[in-house]
Amino acid sequence: MSLTADIKDFALDSGYSLVGVAPAENFPEYAAELRKRNEMYRFYTESPLRPLDWTEPKKMMPSAKSIVAVVFDVAKEAFPEKLIGKIGRIYMSRYYIAPRQRINGARRQLMKEFLEKSGCEVTIARAIPERLAAARAGLATYGKNTFVYFDGMGSFGLVTTFLVNAELEYDTSTMKVDCPPKCTACIDACPTGALYEPLRMDPRRCIAYNCFTTIDGNPGVTSYIPPAIREKMGSWIHGCDVCQTSCPRNQPRLKMKLTPNAYLEKKAQEFDMVKMLNATDEYYQVSLQPLTYNYIKEKKYLQRNAAIALGNSLDSAYIPALTTAMSDFEPLVRSYAAWALGRIGGKSAKQVLESCLKRETVESVRMEIEAALRV
Ligand code: SF4
Ligand code: SF4
Repeated sequence: MSLTADIKDFALDSGYSLVGVAPAENFPEYAAELRKRNEMYRFYTESPLRPLDWTEPKKMMPSAKSIVAVVFDVAKEAFPEKLIGKIGRIYMSRYYIAPRQRINGARRQLMKEFLEKSGCEVTIARAIPERLAAARAGLATYGKNTFVYFDGMGSFGLVTTFLVNAELEYDTSTMKVDCPPKCTACIDACPTGALYEPLRMDPRRCIAYNCFTTIDGNPGVTSYIPPAIREKMGSWIHGCDVCQTSCPRNQPRLKMKLTPNAYLEKKAQEFDMVKMLNATDEYYQVSLQPLTYNYIKEKKYLQRNAAIALGNSLDSAYIPALTTAMSDFEPLVRSYAAWALGRIGGKSAKQVLESCLKRETVESVRMEIEAALRV
């Protein structure tokens, strides 16, 4: 058996659904696009991930000759109804950026160890343009929504790439857009206009990005979500699936009858938006973190997102929970609870806002309360 065949066998035996191999060549078009749209992508290009450096794989690993791309099917099992429309499917799968102590992180580690035991020098390619790598490795074609589509999986696959120093047998590239020519369903369905033309997405307007990437400290990034985006977030608290669920190429997978996942069902039973808004540390650690560990690293960001979702429900039944949140230690939580109270509106929400304004000392929160009172 050749080394390539051996690697592919091991990947499939480990639970990956697809595996392909491409030469470790540069990604100049991707680098040019990131540079051209630097204002949109500063949060990424200037982050410690250094994605521009990764567009030249040999810069990151001088001996690199091949890219091994493996694909994990994130939608093999059913997602709980209770979480649909709130948490994106790829996050519910707990595959994305999984830590080593979780099964999906351990699988990635096993794959790396196998490649090493096979005599390869290996680097887990953290910021290679993975979708492009998968298309080069013959595993996927592009959709106009910027996702890649895998045979039988739709866009519900996640790619992990490994740089290795061995020359392998390369697969034939499938690099192309494979959508019906007149289809624009994803662009039409995007609630914020983030998908502004085929294959172009502005992350600053994307609900998924606003849910999780607005973490203070990264360059060009703040925790502030513009009010116009908040309203479009609806009930999403981590991710957004709209440009994938509106896609005809995903309908076969979305309509498949799948077996429920016991762990997800348990977490879904524990899921409660009001509890999330006023989350204790224990509730955050036990019930929320396992579904949100990839990007949201602090409780307050989920509390913020819960406040937005409750505000968008326009349901006055949530005014007591939002009133409690107006006494939260974190100004961020108080700010978004104020916005939510303004969004729900009515006499009792207004009374809460007026009373909180009298005692609020943080300027940014006061501004949110005043804005909410003007609605
Ligand atoms: S994830 Fe949602 S907001 Fe972002 S581009 Fe897709 S549909 Fe638009
Ligand atoms: S919705 Fe249509 S245009 Fe968008 S990715 Fe799917 S098939 Fe392509």
